[in-house]
Amino acid sequence: MKFFDRLTSDLTTLREAGNLRTLRLLPEDTLNLSGNDYLGILNDTAFREGFYDSLTGEDRKLSAASSRLLTGNVPAAVALEEALAQAYGTEAALVFGSGYHANTGILPALVGPKSLVLSDKLNHASMIDGIRASGATFYRFRHNDLAHARTFLERYAAEYEEVFVMTESVFSMDGDCTDLEALVKLKHDFPNVVLYLDEAHGVGVFGETGLGLAHAKGVHHEIDLLVGTFGKALCSTGAFVVCSSVIRETLINKMRPFIFTTALPPVNLAWTLYVFRALAGMTARRRHVLSMGQRLAEAIRGKGIACVSASHIVPYVIGENDATILEAQRFRQAGFYVLPIRPPTVPRGTARLRFSLSAEIAEADFERLLTLFQH
Ligand code: PMP
Repeated sequence: MKFFDRLTSDLTTLREAGNLRTLRLLPEDTLNLSGNDYLGILNDTAFREGFYDSLTGEDRKLSAASSRLLTGNVPAAVALEEALAQAYGTEAALVFGSGYHANTGILPALVGPKSLVLSDKLNHASMIDGIRASGATFYRFRHNDLAHARTFLERYAAEYEEVFVMTESVFSMDGDCTDLEALVKLKHDFPNVVLYLDEAHGVGVFGETGLGLAHAKGVHHEIDLLVGTFGKALCSTGAFVVCSSVIRETLINKMRPFIFTTALPPVNLAWTLYVFRALAGMTARRRHVLSMGQRLAEAIRGKGIACVSASHIVPYVIGENDATILEAQRFRQAGFYVLPIRPPTVPRGTARLRFSLSAEIAEADFERLLTLFQH
């Protein structure tokens, strides 16, 4: 059938270009430097067992067996949202099945006929999908260039009822950070700006109590929609937004990936809340992972390679695909599992290894990793 021929031919094209994606298992005896377990919670059995020991009643259930709006509004979801709103000092919080659900669903639920969207060029695919699904007019500003975003505002803001400015606090590919004070200044200078900040890689890692980069900078109250995910530093699954009550109520009524999906399992929500409550006490883990990030970036710069990272995510840009794959193999042989990132995920000629560090990494292993940059 033509259908299968087309699929096979498309896959062949991808394979020939070296861009075929495949599912792998993490090889044994390697240190995972490509995951998002930034605080080293995944293999902390004592912490996990502590959670299981504390688990009682409703929270032991393994499925919500319904959407939130039907019978899936379990006590664990309510408790988690209360804890989030209280921690961030917002009127409200809402929890979703994943960051992908959040970013694809929030914007379409909030835009009106006179909304404009300004989006960082390197925003995560989930935000891009949300923007596209919203049908709103949008412009992309140069990566991490808020002066460029400002030029769009100067030109267009007055023509629209509101302008959503969407960005990430810690960017997933390069580990560079947005200047959040400059972001907030846009809101002060243009009265119809709505700030939408994805803190997927900031929550847990940044801030005295692990609430993310906006909280660390003391500007979280200025962010209208602060989105965080639970599948990374919090080592769980799901996502949240902290926002005003009117936004929350609108999302409950209009957001399709909130309404038309099964709620997260109670056991999972309870685990997220357990980890969230422990976050403030994980300062040593945050310091360790951020210090490793800094030292790794310095080692890369020491080789004369530019590295924009200001976090625990550190790109090591090599350039060509083949050379990058060979470098990944060299690290793998030394016991470090780090995956090559190639075009089209990153621009042509900038293939790289993306180190995604975890507090689980022991100092001795990290020092051994650094020696691999001396070649
Ligand atoms: N936002 C950003 C910036 C991300 O990096 C990711 C996941 N890679 C997501 C959202 C999606 O989150 P989730 O994995 O919970 O769907």
